Amino acid sequence: MSATQSSIQLSLPDGTSQEFPAGVTAGEVLEQSNGKWLEGTIAVKIDGVPKDLKTVLQQNSTLEPLTFSSDEGKEVYRHSSTHIMAQAVKECFPAAQVTIGPAIEEGFFYDFAFERPFTPEDLELIEARAHEIIKRDLIITRQEFTKQDAIDFFKARGEAYKVEIIEGFQDDEPVSAYTQGEFIDLCRGPHIPSTGHIKAFKLLTSAGAYWRGDERNPMLQRIYGTSFPTQEALEKHIANLEEIKKRDHRKLGKELDLFSIQDETGPGLILWHPKGALIRLLIENFWREQHIKHGYDLVYSPHVARLDLWKTSGHVDYYRENMYASMPVESSEYQLKPMNCPFHIMVYKSHLRSYRELPLRYGELGTVYRYERSGVLHGLMRVRGFTQDDAHLFCRPDQLAAEVSKVLEFTIFVLQTFGFTECEMYLSTRPEKSVGSTEQWDQATQALEKALNDGQFDYKLDPGEGVFYGPKIDVKIKDALGRSWQCSTVQVDFNNPNRFGLTYIAEDGKSHQPIMIHRALMGSIERFFGILLEHYGGAFPTWLAPVQAQVLPISDKQQEYGTSVLNNLRKEGCRAELDLRNEKIGLKIREAEKAKIPYMLVVGDRESQSGTVSVRKRNGKSLGTMSVEEVLTIIRNEIPSVLSCDSSRPV
Ligand SMILES: [Zn+2]
Ligand SMILES: [Zn+2]
Repeated sequence: MSATQSSIQLSLPDGTSQEFPAGVTAGEVLEQSNGKWLEGTIAVKIDGVPKDLKTVLQQNSTLEPLTFSSDEGKEVYRHSSTHIMAQAVKECFPAAQVTIGPAIEEGFFYDFAFERPFTPEDLELIEARAHEIIKRDLIITRQEFTKQDAIDFFKARGEAYKVEIIEGFQDDEPVSAYTQGEFIDLCRGPHIPSTGHIKAFKLLTSAGAYWRGDERNPMLQRIYGTSFPTQEALEKHIANLEEIKKRDHRKLGKELDLFSIQDETGPGLILWHPKGALIRLLIENFWREQHIKHGYDLVYSPHVARLDLWKTSGHVDYYRENMYASMPVESSEYQLKPMNCPFHIMVYKSHLRSYRELPLRYGELGTVYRYERSGVLHGLMRVRGFTQDDAHLFCRPDQLAAEVSKVLEFTIFVLQTFGFTECEMYLSTRPEKSVGSTEQWDQATQALEKALNDGQFDYKLDPGEGVFYGPKIDVKIKDALGRSWQCSTVQVDFNNPNRFGLTYIAEDGKSHQPIMIHRALMGSIERFFGILLEHYGGAFPTWLAPVQAQVLPISDKQQEYGTSVLNNLRKEGCRAELDLRNEKIGLKIREAEKAKIPYMLVVGDRESQSGTVSVRKRNGKSLGTMSVEEVLTIIRNEIPSVLSCDSSRPV
């Protein structure tokens, strides 16, 4: 139908359809059909695309209100908030030039070209001005320019960065901008109808950031902020941010003396201190034992290998920027390993394989080294050397779905043992650039789907997000603060078996190519340890606590009795320590609590006479007086039952 039609048919949020005159705005439609639909509505989806409420409708379409509760609604809300912040900055500091200001998860930022960093006092001033702008309830309107007009307009306003952005646009496309009061910003939109729609607004921090993220470009001043539809939600968020700060693994790692990163050693390289190393050992023991139980063979591989190996695997062509420079050894070049895969492939290749042997599952806690720019390094989360809990499975095509099923079950079991009960799964399918035939991709994707369905796992589809060599399933865990972390991944690979010429002799007596699966459950031990540390806020569950019980004599008189208690605990495999310092018991208790030791066993005269201990938990709760045997029973009961063998030791 043509745009001149006088009436249009609109599908409404309740599924009904109504006729409206052409030229009506989306906001008017929602208001006239049911006033309630405008409550909390900040924008609208027209045929699935987020638009301003003021969008004029000329043809039949479907309308859906957008509120803060959806991801798209949050984006509109936060992005509109960053415009308000930019306006406040321009009003307070007219010399600042605006660049870009996107919504991000949980908030927004805006980068300004300004002669100096913004101080905390500046932020207070800007925030107060932003609140004023919200109060003014300025109407937000959209305009469109030709590219040249937009360039002229922003040039005249002295906004060089905006001009540079517009110059990068296509010539024939109209350029849109949004105005609120005196402030106008280049923007695709959509936006909230007026500034007063922002109910709770707060600036958080400022930091330097390079223009377009490139360190050769000028340094800009970035301000972070956040906004919410209620003050209560904002306050809850701020409290959560405080908790995140308190649980920062870099801070806890230092306080609990678990690990360090030192400049003399090199950035991104982890030194595991005794207590951290002990926790890691417990994690690794559990990992190895469970892998053997689940039908894996464990292997070890070297940290360097001939560069040629990485040429065969394709890493030299596709992964070079993450690899360190190669080193000459006699007449060949060697390379520090960025991955474990080629080594496991070489183990597979060391024999002629029969279909009867498959599947083969090679697991390794394999340490790899990857070049990461110093700017992106972050504690244990992003490092230059780390240990993957890696495994490579080689199977026949008919075994693929069953193998993936087993990996998924194993993943859930491992994550649950570490206390992660909530997770989300994502199935990523064929990307634009990829290797392998359509048939291979279809078969593998179906196998992954089958595994997900057989296990009755809820999952989301990530179309086109697979690796170039095959589809994959990613598992994201939720931590105690509700944050998502991607740890586990299961990836099908058609590429490496081909590159390395892997074969097996099938039932038909002929050579066939096996399918390879790359998988990691925790991802990197370093990062997983960092996540665990923040998840538990340093109070590791008893089976992972480096010290499970601390014996605290009240005075020197109980030294002998305290030592016998310690020995009894240790004899039973409990990780116990004794605090013999000549300090007040109150201080000893406080320090043991700070060290997050699960059990404190206080011994005074009464206890030494009756052969008991007075038990206190790290949360301050008293369990009363009991025998050492009873304490051991309590501790044993806190060890997950799957750990009742070697890896659970001590205890
Ligand atoms: Zn905008
Ligand atoms: Zn791999």
